[in-house]
Amino acid sequence: MLWGVISDIHSNLEALEASIKTLSEQGAKGWICCGDIVGYGPQPNEVCEKIASLKPLHVVSGNHDLAVVGKMDVSWFNDYAQAAALWTRDSLTEPARKFLEALPARDVADTFMVVHGSPRNPPEEYLLTRQQYMDNLAGVKVSPCFVGHSHLTWCFQRDPNSPLGTKAQLLRDGQRVDVSESSGSVVNPGSVGQPRDHDNRASCGLYDDKARTFKLFRVPYDIASVQKKMRDVALPELLVLRLSYGQ
Ligand code: ZN
Repeated sequence: MLWGVISDIHSNLEALEASIKTLSEQGAKGWICCGDIVGYGPQPNEVCEKIASLKPLHVVSGNHDLAVVGKMDVSWFNDYAQAAALWTRDSLTEPARKFLEALPARDVADTFMVVHGSPRNPPEEYLLTRQQYMDNLAGVKVSPCFVGHSHLTWCFQRDPNSPLGTKAQLLRDGQRVDVSESSGSVVNPGSVGQPRDHDNRASCGLYDDKARTFKLFRVPYDIASVQKKMRDVALPELLVLRLSYGQ
């Protein structure tokens, strides 16, 4: 079966719908979401509703999701993220809040697992280095382990040919990688709603649980439309502008 893998949507409905459309056209029949459904963007309720409608769905909570329902301290955020989190908290409908409150920290399925940041510290740790990957390997119960949080398309794997025994790469649009059980793969599909690698297209992926491969996709979407909605509700201008630059 093919799974659409999405993460860090951040209340960006246009980017989410474009990603779902592309992944569905590629054959996705199930959905994996690594958290940070809300925060930063202008449509938290619509995005929660859309994610909740995806079936079958494996989804975990991100630090922004926890913050807006009062399960994590917003003082942990920078000023802009904090302003957006407080606006989101005040804008959430009851069904959206209940949906976010019920999200688990990790989800371990038969052929993959999902956390937001890292296996050892799901809501907080940014997995960015090979050392961190090695320190987290004991928590990788199933390969691939999908993560989000850094908004970067990191793929960490075991590599017997490397002197360090591991490999780290940033996946590019259209790149396919082997994520079989022995590879001990930790894969980040990048961010749907706020990419930070200087490519302003939405980032997402397709996981084939038979072939055990993962393929990355970059998807253009109507950025100007999201920016207009953000300005209409007076979200911080820096958050509006960064969508244009993908950073
Ligand atoms: Zn995020």
